[in-house]
Amino acid sequence: SSKWARAMAILREFEEKCGTPIAKLRQVADAMTVEMHAGLASEGGSKLKMLISYVDNLPTGDEKGLFYALDLGGTNFRVLRVQLGGKDKRVAKQEFEEVSIPPHLMTGSSEALFDFIAQALAKFVAKEGEGYHPAPGRQRELGFTFSFPVRQTSISSGTLIKWTKGFNIEDTVGEDVVGELTKAMERQKLDMRVTALVNDTIGTLAGGRYHHNGVIAAVILGTGTNAAYVERVHAIPKWHGLLPMSGEMVINMEWGNFRSSHLPLTEFDQALDTESLNPGEQIFEKLISGMYLGEIVRRVLLKMADEAALFGDTVPPKLKVPFILRTPHMSAMHHDSSPDLKVVGSKLKDVLEISNTSLKTRKIVVELCDVVATRGARLSAAGILGILKKLGKDTVQDGVKQQSVVAMDGGLYEHYTRFRTTMESTLKELLGEGVAENIVVEHSNDGSGIGAALLAASHSQYL
Ligand code: ADP
Ligand code: MG
Repeated sequence: SSKWARAMAILREFEEKCGTPIAKLRQVADAMTVEMHAGLASEGGSKLKMLISYVDNLPTGDEKGLFYALDLGGTNFRVLRVQLGGKDKRVAKQEFEEVSIPPHLMTGSSEALFDFIAQALAKFVAKEGEGYHPAPGRQRELGFTFSFPVRQTSISSGTLIKWTKGFNIEDTVGEDVVGELTKAMERQKLDMRVTALVNDTIGTLAGGRYHHNGVIAAVILGTGTNAAYVERVHAIPKWHGLLPMSGEMVINMEWGNFRSSHLPLTEFDQALDTESLNPGEQIFEKLISGMYLGEIVRRVLLKMADEAALFGDTVPPKLKVPFILRTPHMSAMHHDSSPDLKVVGSKLKDVLEISNTSLKTRKIVVELCDVVATRGARLSAAGILGILKKLGKDTVQDGVKQQSVVAMDGGLYEHYTRFRTTMESTLKELLGEGVAENIVVEHSNDGSGIGAALLAASHSQYL
């Protein structure tokens, strides 16, 4: 058969295995709800860690003063300062800087990574200018957003369970990451106290709640993926601590580690997992998040090159390089609306060094991007349905018209339009009309940065 027929056969078989009909999504959502219950019942009761965040109060708007935040979550980290002005002035002033992490530090030593971070933070603090008012005689305080699985021991301490998203530094696992940061700040002679340790989902939840009190959950779709939500304390059997006044506790689900026999996994996903830094783990994340979508596309293209000679008699060498095709490249190709798909042509050329592709080839590439993005987006929607089910918000509640808001953030959600719109329309479809109008999915712009600063404020040592 022709190369087209063979390439199309590979595409169709892949598409079929990636299928996410509504019935399957409901099974995934149900499995998510079941695992949530299990993870809340006992430590280690589920693949879902359902970590207790020690955040039992979300921002009210009364927070005041100068606070810093540091956000370490993936390829970049950000430092941020805010001057909070209470109910009337809200966020009076804010500034941030973004620094990319040199790849060698992601797999080097703990000390080297934290020194690099503390150095950038110290530089940023040194540039504190007009409009910021540190309280005289007080230490500056910092909210630390650290978006990896951490077992919290208090609001301001916690040990790293494992690295994810391409980080792998043995030294840090089992250590208190606030301790590591504090030591590095001391080495930089930076006088600052970490008063809140959170991850990006908790930060986004807090930042979202500051603007809208209907926020009940937060979902991150970035390099990785995760979710957090507000649970009633009496629904957390494994919690043996004091009962908070609010009766509520924010739970960090670590949903990236969710897995279920209902997830549509293909040979490409299996191979990606086996060859990853964390085989067998973060299976949901490997289907959904920005670190992996482009890589799945590359793997399917490689098979098409190898078995259908899609790009000629030899396999283009660049196509064999893991992670060379990144999700932003994929998204650019997927959104190409030019008649000759010239963006696809130029990405194939620039990234994979495949030149002179025909329109027919480019169309196959776009369709492949669509299959991979659609599966990820629809599974994300199923995950959100799982949370809403756990909270009993997936059905019409008599007389209740209050809107529930899911705060979203992350580069994938923010920049991959097709992914976002598919996720949102799938959630509507899953909820059905009557319920869908009570559930709002909202982009919480920079929620995690501001959120961490807000939590640093509400957990200040001076309160
Ligand atoms: P992190 O998750 O590392 O904290 P972000 O939330 O900023 O950082 O997400 C960055 C991720 O978002 C990237 O790794 C990439 O996968 C994805 N991303 C960024 N820009 C785009 C884009 N234009 N299209 C699709 N995905 C994107
Ligand atoms: Mg982030």
